[in-house]
Amino acid sequence: MATGLIDDDRFLLHDTGPHHPECAARVGAVRQALATQAWRDELVDVTARPAAIEELEAVHSLNYLRRAARVCAAGAAYLDVPDVAINEYSYEVALLAAGAPLALADALIEGQIDNGFALLRPPGHHAERESAMGFCLFNNVAVLARYLQRGHGLDKVAIVDWDVHHGNGTQHSFEEDPSVLYVSTHQYPYYPGTGAAYETGSGRGRGATLNCPMPAGATDTAYERAFFEEILPKLAWFKPECVIISAGFDAHRDDPLADVHLSTGCFRWMTERLMEVAADHAGGRLLSVLEGGYNLARLGDCVSAHLERLRAPL
Ligand SMILES: [Zn+2]
Repeated sequence: MATGLIDDDRFLLHDTGPHHPECAARVGAVRQALATQAWRDELVDVTARPAAIEELEAVHSLNYLRRAARVCAAGAAYLDVPDVAINEYSYEVALLAAGAPLALADALIEGQIDNGFALLRPPGHHAERESAMGFCLFNNVAVLARYLQRGHGLDKVAIVDWDVHHGNGTQHSFEEDPSVLYVSTHQYPYYPGTGAAYETGSGRGRGATLNCPMPAGATDTAYERAFFEEILPKLAWFKPECVIISAGFDAHRDDPLADVHLSTGCFRWMTERLMEVAADHAGGRLLSVLEGGYNLARLGDCVSAHLERLRAPL
């Protein structure tokens, strides 16, 4: 398989300060892990580009985009909430984080790659239409889903979010929209508080949201059961034309921010299941976008396992 990789030094410029878990060293840890892999140089390097304002407006209000630009340029310590720490580069870097998956999508649709992964920061799945939240400025996967629809003419896109936190912003972006399926596994109850099993979408979007809340202490077995009993049947019903993974690795048992206990191998296993879904319904089209993951060594291991699976044939 030709697996694309976005990796760009500019993602290091978004500086969240000395004690923030969402730090530039995360990118370094992943690079270090990939550098030890014999197959690293077989990945197809894809060049990131910033998202255009019109592309972001598919998900965010112009008011919010202007406020984000203004607050970052003013040298503020944070945007909207204290956990979204910023510096003077953060707005430009967030534009690049929202645009990088679009470059990956172009490479995918044009046939240069079979699937791909965007090693980017800041993450995106907590960002709401009108506000930053939870280390996230812009909702990178939501912008990607809309770009696949409006820029490349796909009708149905599925987003599978296995970050340990619920992707409130992504769910809210699409909860009334039957053309984007949002599926999430996450520790619950936990930050950000949304993601109960009864949240299944609303209006015409009813049934196109699937939440699989997990108790603290959940292991691979609980995730495998959720995949077999709920997630894979839902994806087979929906028949996506592209599968997007909101790929956080903070459900790993060694992650300091949460209490789900997945092994590194479980991320490889979930990757393989979603590759099968993509092969069955989407011509193999699968794009993966980094969200969380805060144990640096384990983040490197997990992204390596994820990419190693993505690049090998089913
Ligand atoms: Zn997370």
